[in-house]
Amino acid sequence: MARRLKHWGWGFEDEQPAPEELRQAAQFLSERLGFGSSEPEEPAPLPALSPPRLQPPDSLAAICRSDDYERALHSYGRSYSDIVRAFRGRFDHPPDVVAHPRDEGEVAAVLEWAVSAGAAVIPFGGGTSVVGGVEPRVGDVYAGVVTIDLKALDRVLEVDPVSRAARIQAGALGPSLEQQLGEHGLTLRHFPQSFQFSTLGGWIATRSGGHFATLYTHIDDLVESIRALTPSGDWESRRLPGSGAGVSPDRLLIGSEGTLGIISEAWVRVRPRPAHRASAGVRFTDFGSGADAVRALSQSGLYPTNCRLIDAAEAAITRAGDGSYALLVLGFESADHDVEPWMSLALDCCSDFGGAWERRGAGREGEGGDSVGSWRDAFLRAPYLRDTFVAIGVLSETFETAITWDRFAEFHAAVLERARAAVHEVCGTGSVTCRFTHVYPDGPAPYYTILAPARRGDELAQWAEIKAAASEAVLAAGGTITHHHAIGRDHRPWYDRQRPDAFAAALRGAKAAVDPTGALNPGVLIDPVS
Ligand SMILES: Cc1cc2nc3c(=O)[nH]c(=O)nc-3n(C[C@H](O)[C@H](O)[C@H](O)COP(=O)(O)OP(=O)(O)OC[C@H]3O[C@@H](n4cnc5c(N)ncnc54)[C@H](O)[C@@H]3O)c2cc1C
Repeated sequence: MARRLKHWGWGFEDEQPAPEELRQAAQFLSERLGFGSSEPEEPAPLPALSPPRLQPPDSLAAICRSDDYERALHSYGRSYSDIVRAFRGRFDHPPDVVAHPRDEGEVAAVLEWAVSAGAAVIPFGGGTSVVGGVEPRVGDVYAGVVTIDLKALDRVLEVDPVSRAARIQAGALGPSLEQQLGEHGLTLRHFPQSFQFSTLGGWIATRSGGHFATLYTHIDDLVESIRALTPSGDWESRRLPGSGAGVSPDRLLIGSEGTLGIISEAWVRVRPRPAHRASAGVRFTDFGSGADAVRALSQSGLYPTNCRLIDAAEAAITRAGDGSYALLVLGFESADHDVEPWMSLALDCCSDFGGAWERRGAGREGEGGDSVGSWRDAFLRAPYLRDTFVAIGVLSETFETAITWDRFAEFHAAVLERARAAVHEVCGTGSVTCRFTHVYPDGPAPYYTILAPARRGDELAQWAEIKAAASEAVLAAGGTITHHHAIGRDHRPWYDRQRPDAFAAALRGAKAAVDPTGALNPGVLIDPVS
């Protein structure tokens, strides 16, 4: 029998820890954090949902489902507020129909029917959105909601070894896509933390950021051309290594979050798998001197593949440190040449800022010393841990941004102060920690993690208040409302203030041209029709 995904959390139903295991985890975590219950709550059973408002035509019945499990599974992404609501059995806006097209023709047929029925259409990849990007909260003007799940479009269709590119269907999940490319000795090398359950189409639609810190780690840079279906016709760009022909059709679709078209496939840039690696964990007495070292590294032309500065408190929480120092997880890799000389130069640079390093590894990242390995394990476990946090009454939230180096120190101090104040006002206690996920020659992308005691039943109000305070702080201090998590429905108020008004009008115009009834993902980036 096929494994079923948890309808409320991360991973498969059969991965949910047994009650005794959960109790042990709860005991350990609550002792370590100093809050949270040692008695975990059970998820509510899946409730009976309101009857669907739409019925697909007979011609599409075989690929459409309207059972409660399927509708619940497609009701939310995987943000903290999504998990809390689904955990408690609260499904206020389930989609009416979930379609599973098996090829592009079926995507087109579902789209045509849904638009003619007056429905809203939500493109759905892996459903790992953390910003309300797939939630069918679309208002009352639509006859219902049809969610189009693209995961059956999961094949690598073509590989061009000469240009090092591959044509891949949009619904391919990270592991499947990498396994198929691996048969050709190639990799897309795009590893967001949600890699296991997110798709190529979702990455393109949200401008996702991979796990590497510099150079080609954003999906933006890996896309060569895109094919998408819109209510007004197909949108397919030419395969080109670069083009100066006006506004890029790809760049308009990248980050369109399902509002301009349904991405069915893309040509992406691939590369040979790396054969040479080096990694090290570098300690700094404080985050500020680590940030200075990272700035120098980011401007040195060395371009480390990993350059993740973790503050002392976060290093302690992930067991990568003891709380007395900030940790820089540094890594280099190449398919072509030994990277030790680069690592030596990078470590020299770190020592100029007081950095001290541990044993260096030459293998996979995580073999560069115990702290790097501990951090890597914590990184991989984190998505599962979020479910446990909900069960034991710990509010866990992340927010991420980017800022230029000249403003970083002031920005970081202001954002930390405001976010910590909000956490204390709302929860009484808790922590706000920071790491850099990506670094550029002109600035870092800081990523903040909040852990705080939640009041059971009141978590959503607590979350909303903290989220608003953090978002206000980021915007007021000059950052972007998101560096790689996208806008969705949750970031709209701040995104609307961040973007130029003339650009907003241009985007509305583009949408009106390709989606005249406003069917595609209403409320994301652009207001729904009223
Ligand atoms: C634990 C966790 C870790 C994460 N780590 C990262 C990270 O490291 N980096 C990062 O960038 N993000 C991360 N995210 C956020 C999320 O995984 C990304 O936004 C990801 O790109 C979403 O892909 P998906 O396939 O799950 O898309 P979905 O969640 O299904 O959809 C996201 C958006 O894209 C649209 N969409 C999806 N597929 C298509 C398509 N084929 N055509 C048009 N529109 C489409 C949807 O309508 C929606 O607006 C993380 C999320 C979680 C829960």
